[in-house]
Amino acid sequence: MASLSLSNLNKIYDNNVQAVFDFNLDVKDGELIVLVGPSGCGKSTTLRMVAGLEDITSGQLIIDGKDVTQMPAKDRDIAMVFQNYALYAHMTVYENMAFSLTLRKEDPNVIHEKVLAAAEILGLTDQLNKKPRQLSGGQRQRVAMGRAIVRKPKVFLFDEPLSNLDAKLRGATRREILLLHKRLGATMLYVTHDQTEALTLADRIVCMSMGYVQQIGTPLELYDTPANVFVASFIGLPPMNMFDGVVEGGQITCQGFAYPLSESERELLREHEGKAVILGVRPENVVPDDEGYLEMDVTLNENLGQNTLVHGNVGGHRTTAKVRDWCSYRKGDRVRFSFNRVHFFDKETTNAIR
Ligand code: ADP
Repeated sequence: MASLSLSNLNKIYDNNVQAVFDFNLDVKDGELIVLVGPSGCGKSTTLRMVAGLEDITSGQLIIDGKDVTQMPAKDRDIAMVFQNYALYAHMTVYENMAFSLTLRKEDPNVIHEKVLAAAEILGLTDQLNKKPRQLSGGQRQRVAMGRAIVRKPKVFLFDEPLSNLDAKLRGATRREILLLHKRLGATMLYVTHDQTEALTLADRIVCMSMGYVQQIGTPLELYDTPANVFVASFIGLPPMNMFDGVVEGGQITCQGFAYPLSESERELLREHEGKAVILGVRPENVVPDDEGYLEMDVTLNENLGQNTLVHGNVGGHRTTAKVRDWCSYRKGDRVRFSFNRVHFFDKETTNAIR
């Protein structure tokens, strides 16, 4: 296993599209890093530069203390697991998993041991003689992981490995990857557009937008202290409510309500007096309160068992509350809420005000 260092990585494709801008990240030995962001934000390009499948336009890539920026993919000792599995259809599970070792002309006894060990870890022992088409999507994904494991690579790269699986299997396979990571203690870089995968899997998340890193931190850091409006909106489901407002006289005046600032919040926003800000409130921080300053016209009451999502309008702005109760509001009800936790963002820069 190995540490990784990505310094000032840039990628400009032949058609002059710059896909990645000045990417910086140090990955510790054994860390699971998830690159997350919407489609087209540059995640796969970054991963493919690490794999050696794309040239690095500028910057430096170090794996295990060695500069590999110019090194061909095959020499980097990296294993990549793709969303389409890329298994050989005519080979058995065993042969698929043994393939790279056979190519390297390893001792057949050693190969046999490694394949059996990987199959055991992945629960594939009974499937070794089957062909990929006889397996479920989840099992195929495990074979693809098995192929990576037998090589004992320095780094595992995953490119949206779960996106071809149905929702239930995705959850199960995600948990398997997490257990696998713990068991192997492997350094992993994992790309997904799914914020739930990022929150549940990552030691640290790298959140990207339009080729730029927006924030790097633990799942809790990104959830609790998002660096800007993009991260705040992208991480968390349902997304954070965002209200445009103006700081004036100890409150933030928004369309339809005014948020009263506490003493410490006034202090924090002192330099923003008279200026436009964005008030961000996660749905679980919108709490029913008969004396509350926010009045919502309910449009939809969604019971999820433990919680209820209450959707509605506040001053013409769509708002969602996640209430820890079974609620039975009806369309047209007017319900009062207040906030028990808020985030402030500068309207102009969209950066968090801290
Ligand atoms: P993501 O993985 O986040 O969906 P990508 O890294 O695949 O994003 O793509 C980032 C940007 O680079 C996109 O604008 C995409 O159209 C562009 N891009 C990706 N691959 C190529 C390529 N081979 N040639 C030109 N542009 C590309």
